[in-house]
Amino acid sequence: MVVIGGGTAGWISAALLVKILGNALKITVVESEQIGTIGVGEATIPPILSLNRALGFDEADFIRATRATIKLGIEFEHWGRIGARYMHAFGSIGKDFPFCGFHHFWTRSLGEGRREALWDYSLNYQSAKRNRFAPLEQLEIGKLPGLVHAYHFDAGLYAAYLRAFSERLGVRRIEGLITHANLDPATGGVQSVQLQGGGEVAGDLFIDCSGFRGLLIEQALNTGYEDWSHWLPCDRALAVACESAEPLAPYTRAIAHPGGWQWRIPLQHRTGNGLVYCSKYLSDEEARALLLANLDAAPLGEPRPIPFRTGRRTRQWNHNVVSIGLASGFLEPLESTSIHLIQSGVIRLIKHFPHAGITPAEIDEYNRQSQAEFEHIRDFLILHYWQNDRPDSEFWRECRNREPPPSLQQRIELFETTGKLFRAQDELFGEQAWQQVMIGQGIMPRDYHPLADSLTTQQLDELLDGVRAIIQRAVDGMGSHRQFIERCCRPAAAPIA
Ligand code: FAD
Repeated sequence: MVVIGGGTAGWISAALLVKILGNALKITVVESEQIGTIGVGEATIPPILSLNRALGFDEADFIRATRATIKLGIEFEHWGRIGARYMHAFGSIGKDFPFCGFHHFWTRSLGEGRREALWDYSLNYQSAKRNRFAPLEQLEIGKLPGLVHAYHFDAGLYAAYLRAFSERLGVRRIEGLITHANLDPATGGVQSVQLQGGGEVAGDLFIDCSGFRGLLIEQALNTGYEDWSHWLPCDRALAVACESAEPLAPYTRAIAHPGGWQWRIPLQHRTGNGLVYCSKYLSDEEARALLLANLDAAPLGEPRPIPFRTGRRTRQWNHNVVSIGLASGFLEPLESTSIHLIQSGVIRLIKHFPHAGITPAEIDEYNRQSQAEFEHIRDFLILHYWQNDRPDSEFWRECRNREPPPSLQQRIELFETTGKLFRAQDELFGEQAWQQVMIGQGIMPRDYHPLADSLTTQQLDELLDGVRAIIQRAVDGMGSHRQFIERCCRPAAAPIA
C-alpha cells in the first residue's frame, strides 16, 4: 500500500493502518519536503482521544511531544449578533434523563422565571472559563459525567510524532517529488507514481493524502468536486502564530468579524491565529491588517495565505485510490472537524479493507458513509452562519439570505417548534452540540417535552440548583490548566491520576 503525502493525513493513515492491520501489510509513505505540509490544523475534538488510545499513546508523553494544551470547547464571539458570546462546550449539560434531555427542564424553568444560562449546567464550560482542568471521568456527587476534552497541538510536531511511531512499526518513508501517476490501462486505476529524477513507486492500493491538490484522486483520476461555497462562502485564510498570552485558556476562540472570523488556538509555546474570510468582501490586505490588529501578543512571522474551496470530492474512494484529509474535501475549521474526518476516514477504510480485492459494493458503501458524514458536518457549520442577526456587513446578510439545505431546515424547525433534537446513527455531533449552537445563535425553542412537567416546581428548583452546586464544587476542586500541562511536561511525568 502506498500513502501519498506526509502531512497529518498521511501519517495518521500510516500509523493507524500499521497499528491495526499489522506490518504484514507493507506501507510506504512518499512525501516531498520541497512541497511541505499545510502547517495548520491544530485544534481537535474529543474523538481524538480514541485515536490516541487505539495507537497506544500515553497522554503526558503526547502532550509533551506535541506541545499540546487541553481543549474543552470552542467559544463563539459575535456570531448570532454583535456582542453575543457562547460556547460549544464538549461533554454533557446538566443531568441526563433517559427519555427527555436536560435542556427541556431548563426551557421550562425559563418560562417559570428562572434566568440561568444553559451553560451554568455545563462542567466543561465552567472549567474552561475559569482556566481549570483535571482528568475527571465522573463527578462523585450526583454521579454526573465528568470533563470531556480534546487537544490543541503543534501540527508539525504532531506529524513528526506520528511519523516516528509509524517508522518504529515498520512503515517505510520515501523522500521524493511525484511528477505524475501511471494509470493501469486495463482497470483505469493507478499503477504507480513517478518520482522526479527517476524512480517509480508501485502499489495495489493508494491512499491519496497529498492535500488540496488531490494528486491521484483529482489530477490523475478526474474524480470531480462538489462545491458548497454557496452555503459556506469563506474561501481564504491567513495564518500567523504569535507569542503566548496568559492565562493559558483551555478552549479555542472563534471571533466573528464583518467579513469572516478569526481563530485563536493557545499552545504551550505560542498561540496559533488565523482569519478565515470571504474574498468577495475582504481583500487580502484588509484581512492581513485585521488579523494583525487582533492578536494577543507580538506576531512570530508574516501571515501566510491559504486559499481553499469548501466542498467534497464526489467519490472519496475511486478505483484503487482512497482520498483522506484535504485531498478528500474541505470543510472550514470552524468546528475543528478536519482531523476527525481523517481519523474516521481511515477507520472506515479499515472496516472496509479490501482483503480479497476491491469490489464496487465496498467502494459504494465507503463513499455513501463518507458523503453522509461530510454533509452532517456541513449542516452544523452552516447553522453558525445562516442564523445570524448581524446588520453590519454584506457578508453576513448574504449568509442569512442563502436557503439552508433541507436537512438543516428540518432540524431547525423541529427544535424551534418542539425543543427536540436528534442524532442519527454515526453522526458526529450529538444533541448537546446542536442545542448549544442553536441557542447560542439565538434560536429558542417555543416548547419543551411534556416529561419536563413531571417534576413539581420545588423538585425542578432542587434539580437545577443541585446540578449547579455540584458543578461549581467540582470546578473549585480543580487545579489550573497551566498546572496540569506543567505536570505533564516534567521530564519524567508522574502518572496522571
Ligand atoms: P497537507 O498537510 O497539505 O499534506 C500534503 C502532503 O502531500 C505533504 O507531505 C506534501 O509534501 C505531500 N505532497 C503533495 N504533493 C506531492 C508531490 N507531488 N510529491 C510528493 N509529495 C507530495 N483541521 C482541524 O482538525 N483543526 C483545525 O483547527 C484546522 N484548522 C485549519 C485551518 C485552515 C486555514 C485550513 C486550510 C485547514 C485546517 N484544518 C484543521 C485542516 C487540517 O489542516 C488538515 O486536515 C490536516 O493538516 C491534513 O492535511 P493533509 O495531510 O491532508 O495535507
